Amino acid sequence: MDPQTLVNLLVEIAELEELLLGATQKIKHNAELSFTLEELQAEYEVDAAKAARENEGAEVTVRGLENEIRQVAEWLKVKENQVVGLTDSRQVLALTQEIRSLKQRLDRLEDKTIDLLDQQDELKSEAVESRSDSLTHGAGSRAKQEAMARDSADLFQKTKYIQNDLERLLGMLPPSENRAVTRLRQNLDQAVVNHKDGVCLGCFNHLPQQQAIVVEQGRTVVRCPSCMRFIVHRSWR
Ligand SMILES: [Zn+2]
Repeated sequence: MDPQTLVNLLVEIAELEELLLGATQKIKHNAELSFTLEELQAEYEVDAAKAARENEGAEVTVRGLENEIRQVAEWLKVKENQVVGLTDSRQVLALTQEIRSLKQRLDRLEDKTIDLLDQQDELKSEAVESRSDSLTHGAGSRAKQEAMARDSADLFQKTKYIQNDLERLLGMLPPSENRAVTRLRQNLDQAVVNHKDGVCLGCFNHLPQQQAIVVEQGRTVVRCPSCMRFIVHRSWR
């Protein structure tokens, strides 16, 4: 194989490797993003459940207080009726004191209930808000995850085509270059890379000046002395 054909072949291999790497990275990125969205959704759900529990707890407490108020109010009524028929002044005094203390208890219970009802309003709106946040995020995140899953499936299909193409081109390489490229591909994402301003885009080391010029000319095969990757110039085809 003449050197020019070999260089052209390597240029094509570099392009395919770059496409393959890009697709693989995008698939990985999609998977990571999808995982993050799931974690975030789990947090929303935990928050919503906590807010709902707190709201229920407050409701139970308020109901308990309201029952107690009803009970105390009934006792009060009973005692107030009793005091009407009494003539014994000591009994009247005792009952009056009891009535006063029941009234005080009723006041305290009512104050407590009012405070709690205010808090409960807040807890209730927090629970509603939290639930709605969780649902909204859930719907958005499901749509994103589905779109990413479709994207990844397409990309995966694309990587198969690229790999087939790559196999075909590798098969066209002379045996020694084929062995070298295959060996490099076992450990590295790319066996053939471009350079930019004399820098190998595989390992980011500078090429010796003379080699950089040879790569630019695009007529002979050049390998990076640092990482041993094949170096080609993008515009040469
Ligand atoms: Zn290199």
